[in-house]
Amino acid sequence: MIHNEGHDNRFRVLVIDDDPSFRTFFLRACTGTGWVALAVATPEHGLGALASFAPHIVFLDLTFPDMDGLGVLSELATRAGDTAVVLISGCDPEVLRSANRIGERLGVRMRPPLQKPVSIDDIRDLLTAFQAEGNFITPGTIAQAINENILRLAYQPKVSLRSGEYMGVEALVRWPVSTGTISPAQFVPVVERDEGLSLRLLTFVLERAAREAAAWKVNGACCAVNMSALCLAEASLPDLLTRTLKGTGMTPRDFVLELTETAALQDPDRVERVLTALRIRGFAVSLDDFGTGHSSLLHLQRLPFNEIKIDRTFVATLLDNPRSERIVRLVINLGQTLGATTVAEGIERPEEASVLAEMACEIGQGFYYARPMDPTTLVNWRDEWMQTQVEVPRKTMP
Ligand code: C2E
Ligand code: MG
Ligand code: MG
Repeated sequence: MIHNEGHDNRFRVLVIDDDPSFRTFFLRACTGTGWVALAVATPEHGLGALASFAPHIVFLDLTFPDMDGLGVLSELATRAGDTAVVLISGCDPEVLRSANRIGERLGVRMRPPLQKPVSIDDIRDLLTAFQAEGNFITPGTIAQAINENILRLAYQPKVSLRSGEYMGVEALVRWPVSTGTISPAQFVPVVERDEGLSLRLLTFVLERAAREAAAWKVNGACCAVNMSALCLAEASLPDLLTRTLKGTGMTPRDFVLELTETAALQDPDRVERVLTALRIRGFAVSLDDFGTGHSSLLHLQRLPFNEIKIDRTFVATLLDNPRSERIVRLVINLGQTLGATTVAEGIERPEEASVLAEMACEIGQGFYYARPMDPTTLVNWRDEWMQTQVEVPRKTMP
């Protein structure tokens, strides 16, 4: 392993490439950029360095003597967390692009790939853009992106696990920038440290989803909007949200507010009052990511939720881990007992959907059905989906 500088709290880049001359070239490109660079020759060393070196970004070659880059990608998917990956290879551009898509499907934060040969400037530009973007995420720049109407919504469908019926969508915020899209995982935590900004994001998303309702609204379909717990500190939240919908043609009954980051829930009396007032106005209220972090039974006991969203970590392990299976079954029973709808998120495989349906979980959401989509793509997906829902029963009729 070769380092060009010491390991401190600066930005760190790891390159995994079996070509020694490329490794030397890469380290030279990083010199003077302020980045700490580490170059390793094998996927094994690369995977080891993920833990010990904790790179912000990994440059990954696709061809190695006894493992291809795809194997590394799937390993990365389970370990990399927030680490971004740039594929860098001399192989056919089409192969490179499809390898990139595979990485995306695995949930790895893929950046646009680089075709070899690359220049020193290609590498430096990429590192500079990455760094600028990271520093770019502040409450001020997020507020600016909201005010300038730069943020977009991606919609992910929710379907009935029993009948397959389209039930509506969840609206997920996206921040397009020149180098790609900043994911909510990167900037929502910054939003959630600031009450004013949390409210601003919520009203922005609600209003935009209401204005884009033509894309998702069909009889009875609802749109879920994520609401950081910090928003509940605002006693006038129910008024604010009702006012936001004025003139859009949508009403509170068209929306589910998904409560996230419940760690921030303080003052239970006030929270109960605000949630109850939201329910009275007609909003449905959902407890998001149930079973993880700080969403607890106490919240369910005390607060008027009409939906529980089973966190995707349980769904992901449902088939392989008997404990997850039992927990999910319990949560579904809990929902039934409390009269709350249960929603499973992160369904990626058909077997997961059928096990959940058999457990009487009501609604499913996940890549198995569809990824989050822009409004135009959603319309096509929705119409096609509803078409097949109509056709299937017909086919089975005598
Ligand atoms: P969430 O509310 O739990 O949203 C579901 C996340 O799971 C989305 O990630 C979605 O793309 C992802 N997902 C959906 N199906 C699958 C699947 O089958 N497999 C896997 N691995 N992932 C799946 P996304 O869009 O990156 O959002 C991440 C989180 O950021 C959300 O988690 C939510 O907590 C937060 N967020 C997103 N939009 C907003 C927003 O407008 N306001 C607030 N306050 N938070 C938001
Ligand atoms: Mg959510
Ligand atoms: Mg969730």
